[in-house]
Amino acid sequence: MAQTKAVNRDKRRRRRLRLLLFTVPVATTLILAVVCAVLGIRLHAVRRELRDALAAVDTDATPVMNQEESAAVRAVDDAEASPYTVSGVDEYERAGLDETDSEVEDSDVRKVYLTFDDGPSSNTGRILDILAEYDVKATFFVVGKEEEEYQPLYKRIVEEGHTLAMHSYSHKYKEIYQSLESYSADLSKLQEFLYDTTGVWCRYCRFPGGSSNTVSKVDMHELIAYLDDQDMSYFDWNISSGDAGDGYISPSEILRNCTAKLGEYDEAIILMHDAGDKDSTVEALPQLIETIQAMDDTEILPITEDTERIHHISNE
Ligand SMILES: [Zn+2]
Repeated sequence: MAQTKAVNRDKRRRRRLRLLLFTVPVATTLILAVVCAVLGIRLHAVRRELRDALAAVDTDATPVMNQEESAAVRAVDDAEASPYTVSGVDEYERAGLDETDSEVEDSDVRKVYLTFDDGPSSNTGRILDILAEYDVKATFFVVGKEEEEYQPLYKRIVEEGHTLAMHSYSHKYKEIYQSLESYSADLSKLQEFLYDTTGVWCRYCRFPGGSSNTVSKVDMHELIAYLDDQDMSYFDWNISSGDAGDGYISPSEILRNCTAKLGEYDEAIILMHDAGDKDSTVEALPQLIETIQAMDDTEILPITEDTERIHHISNE
């Protein structure tokens, strides 16, 4: 009996052992298979993420390089720029570089006229030198100065291709705006003086204080009608450099005044002054010319017959 029990126990143990020997490898294989499947799926996902990440790095690579390059270019630009750079001008310049000038119709070209009142002066030579350096022609609304030192300056204005125009012989508001006769006498004196000095019979004028001045005792329309009768034209301005006052104005302020609204006009006449105490105007001039020249479809011209008559008050 005891023997049978022992045999049965032994059988059970062997069966358990067989079951164990069968179950363990099968279970291990199954677990490994599941783990492999999970790892395989995970690996596939990781591979895909890696591929996407690499692709993203590739597409970013070019712009990153360009940003660095353009930053380097900008650094050079900034280093070359003068202290009075107007904000926004750089964008203008950069945008302009992509444009093809040949595609631009003549009528689309913005015309800018640099005009200098009250010369000649001790600064006229410097102004003419800068204009020559940039190969730019301007317009000088001059006054009458008989002194020997100024005579070559009237001639230089003409010889170097600028427009010689009339402001007033005496530039004394009280005298010239006393009556039509006093105005016309002053203007005729200047016209003859300029003809004797340069051989040019001037026909373009600018009223001292502009046609909208509030000083004149004569109705300005009367003076305008006189100019019409004489076949003369007058020009006011639509942009003022702000250099007319007695107080100091910095070159950067002049530049800002001249360029802030320049983009709004198809034809812009800029008012500046040529006087011995207007050094800021001379100092602002190179940067002003460079800024205008960098603008899209824009050219600097002297006043001619084709120039739009910009008037503060109408002829009527
Ligand atoms: Zn003046």
